[in-house]
Amino acid sequence: MLEKILEKYELVIGLEVHAQLKTETKLMSPASNIFGAEPNSAVSTVCTGMPGALPVINLQAVDMAIRSALAFHCEIKPTSVFSRKHYFYPDLPKGYQISQYDRPYAEGGRVEFYLDDKPREINLTRIHMEEDAGKNLHFDDRGISLVDLNRSSVPLIEIVSEPEMRSPEEAAAYLKALRRVLRYLDVCDGNMEEGSLRCDANVSLRVRGAPKFGTRVELKNINSFRNLERAIVYEATRQYQALEDGESIVQETRLWNADENKSLSMRSKEEAADYRYMPEPDLFPLVLSSDRLDRIKKNQPELPIQKMQRFITHYERSAYDAEVLTSSKALSEYFESVVEFTKEAQLSSNFIQTNVLALIQDPEAGFENFYPDPSALSDLLNRVKSGALSLGMAKEVFEVMHQEKRGAASIIEERGLAQVSDEASLLAIVEKVMKDNPSQLAEFRSGKDKLFGFFMGQSQKELKGKGNPQTLKKILEEKLKA
Ligand code: ADP
Ligand code: MG
Repeated sequence: MLEKILEKYELVIGLEVHAQLKTETKLMSPASNIFGAEPNSAVSTVCTGMPGALPVINLQAVDMAIRSALAFHCEIKPTSVFSRKHYFYPDLPKGYQISQYDRPYAEGGRVEFYLDDKPREINLTRIHMEEDAGKNLHFDDRGISLVDLNRSSVPLIEIVSEPEMRSPEEAAAYLKALRRVLRYLDVCDGNMEEGSLRCDANVSLRVRGAPKFGTRVELKNINSFRNLERAIVYEATRQYQALEDGESIVQETRLWNADENKSLSMRSKEEAADYRYMPEPDLFPLVLSSDRLDRIKKNQPELPIQKMQRFITHYERSAYDAEVLTSSKALSEYFESVVEFTKEAQLSSNFIQTNVLALIQDPEAGFENFYPDPSALSDLLNRVKSGALSLGMAKEVFEVMHQEKRGAASIIEERGLAQVSDEASLLAIVEKVMKDNPSQLAEFRSGKDKLFGFFMGQSQKELKGKGNPQTLKKILEEKLKA
């Protein structure tokens, strides 16, 4: 269906992403910023909107917001202003949300990523800081709804893209790249199911070649990458059918329902005027000193794209390998520690990608208690490197190491897996085989080269197949000729 739509129309997508910052306390309140606590246990009078309670800006949140904006190459504004955005809803006891409106702290910028191995950039409009609202919990069986204000005043940044994405895959790749950066910076845990990263997708169609964008529809409640793609496809199809039937698109907000794989109209799109924005009188404008910016710039960690490029040049990885290995900071660190011990980027990278990643569900969180840890894995890989173990044996040992959480040495010994590599033992075997087969030796020496395989086979038979093939071959070559 999408292909047919795209013959006539261009799909236009812009994303608004809300990221919860991993601060100790909230944006405007000293209450703890923790997820999953007993309802209304992590609140202060600011979160509950008590009359007279005053907001105080959390500088840790400001620093995290700046770190993010720098990573996305935004222009940081030396002065920005908080505003009140008014609306009435039970999870918002003050009756307004403190947000940034006409003077956000960051403008412009871009998100860089690879799509089908090609570099791509999507420009950002802005990033602003705002506080979250509480949450209404509905108990349908009891016919009641209750309000949990733990989330009230949790710090958010809203990252607004330009309408530059042209396919569902591109939107998902953008969102993944954005999340990866926030996780590398350690400012957001990026958990879409828990809502610490939320994405609204604006979608419209325009006839190819038309000068102006079509009317957009905003999709809310998208809680995974897969749902982002599905919601966009659904919406593009819905708009296509309306347009083809001669109807016009209504600008509205629609709610994505993942269980039913469709969206439902939630409300007609509000205009800025509906929110009666006004500067927040209880907060000064936010003035950022150049010292503060310089300090943050200096402490910026290496970002995923930079790390990926470094892996390509320094470890001679393909773009594909480098992208996999840098897909999470924990994975990239695991890889680098292993290589530090083995000095073998190729072997380590292949082994990690085929064996380690097969056992890890979430490369983000999965390495904390993962065994083998880098030193145990390098011990195993160093045995492959020295020829003591074949790759096939290493895989077998690796699986036992993981299951039983113990080092390679004892497993190799118990299972009698070690490859015989020391030259003296191999030489003794070769000499025995030569002595036992004098006629074949004579034939070989008179030019019957094919018999090399016979000697190789006889030696391996003596060694029960555990002779290191390279070393054995080398010794045979030397001895048989003489
Ligand atoms: P609002 O808060 O009213 O939704 P924002 O400026 O925060 O407005 O967000 C607008 C979002 O919609 C941006 O991500 C932008 O790229 C996107 N957008 C704007 N026009 C279109 C369009 N015609 N089609 C698709 N997306 C659009
Ligand atoms: Mg919006």
